[in-house]
Amino acid sequence: MNKTNFHTHNYRCEHAVGNVEDYVKVAIREGYTELGISDHAPMPEYYEDNRMKEEDFSGYLKEIEDAQKKYGDKIKIYKSLEIEYFPELLEKYDKYREKLDYLVLGLHIFRKSGDNKNYSSWKIKTGEDVISYAKYMIEAIESRKFDYIAHPDLYMVNYRTWDESCEKAAHIISKAAEKIDVPLEVNANGIRKSFERHPDWDRYMYPYKEFWEIVKQYNVRTIIGSDTHNFNRMEDREMEIARKFAKEIGLNVIESIF
Ligand SMILES: [Zn+2]
Ligand SMILES: [Zn+2]
Repeated sequence: MNKTNFHTHNYRCEHAVGNVEDYVKVAIREGYTELGISDHAPMPEYYEDNRMKEEDFSGYLKEIEDAQKKYGDKIKIYKSLEIEYFPELLEKYDKYREKLDYLVLGLHIFRKSGDNKNYSSWKIKTGEDVISYAKYMIEAIESRKFDYIAHPDLYMVNYRTWDESCEKAAHIISKAAEKIDVPLEVNANGIRKSFERHPDWDRYMYPYKEFWEIVKQYNVRTIIGSDTHNFNRMEDREMEIARKFAKEIGLNVIESIF
């Protein structure tokens, strides 16, 4: 199986290091056949910092195009952004999508039905919020604006105890991914964030094993994403663990979204 990665950041989001070329060089060195650059999209409506600035977007595209010219004979390089879902901004997604090869959904923020406030996916505390997150994700998937769903199991980051709500959420998300035929990502960055070793098993912040065992019951494509914020760690021990994790569960892993 070819090595690839479609979830890659760079210095523009203000919490990653390295420019596009730094990541491309590592990808070539590690024998990757395809690399998608998908930094956090500018979102001035919701983020003052920690995201690319709108005025940086054209420079970002230019840098990827320059890398395509320089390294195109060694590796396929794609243009992308990782972006939240806000239904009031759908036109903006079309504008970005025109200039990109694919769009990554990264739901760090979710909403509850009948409530326009934004809630952090990192701070989910109740079973009710788990279901709200999942329903919000279906709405995003069914908008058909996204070609790749990053860390769909992010709702477990703070909740941590697998229960009926979590199980229901996993079914809701898997069903939507199957219906729209969009790949779900097994994200290696959650392994970098926390790796708990227990006598008989390992547990990561994400990917969350029980979630993926449910995904497996559906006709859903999955992909391994590095979500790297440091070019030196794009291909690391955690990427290998993520591949092994997907294999052991028996997921249908694709190497390319194209
Ligand atoms: Zn990030
Ligand atoms: Zn990311």
